Amino acid sequence: MDTDSAYMGLSGPLESLVKEDKKIDFYIEYGKWFPRQYCEADHLDFIDTKANGEEWIMKPCCKEKFLFDRRTPGLFKDEFCGTGIIALNSKTYYCWDEKEKTKFSSKGLNKGTNNLRRKCFGEKQRICRKRWRSGNLYSGKTWTDLLLR
Ligand SMILES: [Zn+2]
Repeated sequence: MDTDSAYMGLSGPLESLVKEDKKIDFYIEYGKWFPRQYCEADHLDFIDTKANGEEWIMKPCCKEKFLFDRRTPGLFKDEFCGTGIIALNSKTYYCWDEKEKTKFSSKGLNKGTNNLRRKCFGEKQRICRKRWRSGNLYSGKTWTDLLLR
């Protein structure tokens, strides 16, 4: 958890986890939490379509709202959807999907001079876990400090 972001793992796509009797409420309130996929004129159609489990196809008028909201602070937006992540601390992570698409962040590190890849994150995580178990974790060091060792 950070002041401007949150990471969470779900057992399935978010919308599939909403209980049936809460789906209409979920889609009524949707735009308060996520970028709207509808314009005002199409909001009721959006609610009806999504609550019935059907695919919502954005019209150009709706797409315009969506693109605007994607740049609106305070709404939850997907940063990356994938199948795995190694998160060492806030903003220091490496994630990937089944098609080998990747995204990584290394807050405070120069990506140009540090060739950090999945293997580096995994290796550091393994070393740190081992030291944690043995009670020999570096005190006062962050995961980023350890990543550079
Ligand atoms: Zn529309």
